[in-house]
Amino acid sequence: MSFQDCSSRFCVIGAGAAGVTAAKNLKALSIPFDLIEREDDVGGNWHYGKPCSSIYQSVHMISSKKFSEYTDFPIPDEWPIYLRADQALAYLRSYARHFGIYEHAEFQRSVLEIAPVPDSDLWDVKLDKGETRRYRGVFVANGHLVKPRLPNYPGHFDGLLLHSAQYKTPDTFAGKRVLVVGAGNSGCDIAVDAAHHGRAVFHSTRRGYYYWPKFLFGMPADAWAEWPLRLRLPLWARRFFGKHMLRMFTAGDPADYGLPEPDHKLFEAHFIINSTLLYHLAHGDIVAKRDVQELRGDRVLFTDGSEESVDVIVYATGFELSFPFLDQKHLSWSMEKPALYMNMFDQQHPNLFFIGLFQTSTGNWPLMDYQSQLAARYIRARDAAPKKAARLSRLIAKDRTAADGGIRFTNVSRHAIEVEHFSYRSKLLRLIRALALSPDSQPDSGSLIHPAESLQPQSARRRRVEASATTNIDIVQ
Ligand SMILES: Cc1cc2nc3c(=O)[nH]c(=O)nc-3n(C[C@H](O)[C@H](O)[C@H](O)COP(=O)(O)OP(=O)(O)OC[C@H]3O[C@@H](n4cnc5c(N)ncnc54)[C@H](O)[C@@H]3O)c2cc1C
Repeated sequence: MSFQDCSSRFCVIGAGAAGVTAAKNLKALSIPFDLIEREDDVGGNWHYGKPCSSIYQSVHMISSKKFSEYTDFPIPDEWPIYLRADQALAYLRSYARHFGIYEHAEFQRSVLEIAPVPDSDLWDVKLDKGETRRYRGVFVANGHLVKPRLPNYPGHFDGLLLHSAQYKTPDTFAGKRVLVVGAGNSGCDIAVDAAHHGRAVFHSTRRGYYYWPKFLFGMPADAWAEWPLRLRLPLWARRFFGKHMLRMFTAGDPADYGLPEPDHKLFEAHFIINSTLLYHLAHGDIVAKRDVQELRGDRVLFTDGSEESVDVIVYATGFELSFPFLDQKHLSWSMEKPALYMNMFDQQHPNLFFIGLFQTSTGNWPLMDYQSQLAARYIRARDAAPKKAARLSRLIAKDRTAADGGIRFTNVSRHAIEVEHFSYRSKLLRLIRALALSPDSQPDSGSLIHPAESLQPQSARRRRVEASATTNIDIVQ
C-alpha cells in the first residue's frame, strides 16, 4: 500500500479520444496532470480487439472526416471521407504523439476507485498495485460504449448469442441464419455484414427510424445536415425539407422495405447513417422483422406472430452508462444519468469533469476537444481570473437548460446523453470565449486554437497547424 500526494495535479482516466484531448488541453494551459489508461496504448474504442473496444473489423466511421477531426489537428486530405478503424486509431495516436501526451501517460494501470476528500475539493484515486494518490481533481473519460445493455426476452435460446460489442469478424455468420436485434448504427452495419456471409438474415427493430445514406447530393450526410443549421433554418423547416428530401431523393419510404414507419419526428432520434441496409432489404438479403416476443430454443417468435429458425443472435441494443470506480452517492442522478451541467460539470464537485459523456449525430472528437478547452480554461480562470470563473460556476450551480436545439429526443435510455450537436457546440464556444484569459494568465496557449476558427473550412485551419503535423501518420494493422 502506498500513498502519494499529487494535489497539484489532475488525474485523467482513460486514453481514448476524450482522454487524449483532455490531456492535450490541460497541457496547453500548463495544468499538470497524469493520464491513466488500463490498456497498453492510446485508442480506447478504436483499439480493435481490446476489452475497451466495441468495434468490429469491418467498421468505418459514421461521421465524416471533416466533422470528426480535433479542432487543430486535421485528418490528412488523402485519407478517405469515412475513416477505417485502423485510420481512426492511427489518427488518435498521432494526435497524442504530436502534442506530447505519451510522456504523461501511464499504461496498463487501472483506476479502481475515486472519492472526494472530505472538506476539500481534492480527490483520492485508488489505483491497482495498492497505490492511492491524492489529486487536485479528476477528468472522467472512461467511455460510455463499454457495458452492454441486454434485452430480457422470455424463453431461452440454444444458439450463439452475442452483444454487438462482442461481435468482431463476419466469419461468425458463415452459413448461419442470423438475427440482428436493434437498429442503431452498429445493428445496421452488422446486419449488412451478415448479409454478405450468412445463409439468412433477419433484422428486428422495435420502432421505425429515418435512414440516412452516407452521401446526399455528393456530400457526406453530416456535412449536408450542417448547412440548414448554419443558415439558421427553423426546426420545422429542417424537418419538412429533410423528411421530403429523404423520401424523394434517397431510398423512399422505410415501409416499402418492410420496416415500421417512424413513430417520431425527424431528428428526435440519433441518426442512422447507412447506405447499404436498405439496398440489402430491397434485394431480400435481409428481412425486416418486428420486435422479438419470445426465444424458443432454436427459433424466435416475433410480435407480428411470425417465427424463424435462427443460429446466431446479435443484440445491437446499446450500452449502459457505467462508472465502476465512482460510488453513485457522490453524484446526483436524473433519468439513469448523472445530472451534469453541459454533460460535463458536477454541481457539487468543482474539480470533477466528465469528457465525452454525450452522444450526437456527428463527430464526437471535436466536441470533446471543446469540452476539454472549456474545462482547462475554467481551472485556469479559477486561479487567474476568479470573476470570470465565477460566472461559469453560477451556471454550473443553476442552469439546467438542455443543449437540445428545441428537439425532444425520444424518451428511451438510448438518448439519455444525446445532445443536438449544433446548439451544444455553439454553447461550448460561447462559454469558452467568455473565459478568454489575458496572455499573462494563459501560459503556453499557442496550441489552443481560437474556437471560432474551427468552423472555418478545413483549408483555412490547415494553414494554421504545422505542415508536418498529420502528414506522416503510420497505420498499424
Ligand atoms: C461501432 C462504433 C462506431 C462509432 N463511430 C463513431 C464515429 O463515426 N464518429 C464518432 O465521433 N464516434 C464514433 N463512435 C463513438 C466512439 O466511441 C468515440 O469516437 C470515441 O472513441 C469515444 O472515446 P472515449 O474516450 O469517450 O471512450 P473510449 O474510446 O471508450 O475510451 C475510454 C478509455 O478509458 C479507459 N478506461 C476505462 N476505465 C478505466 C479505468 N478504470 N482505469 C483506466 N483506464 C480506463 C479504457 O481502457 C479506454 O481506453 C463509434 C462507436 C462505435 C462502438
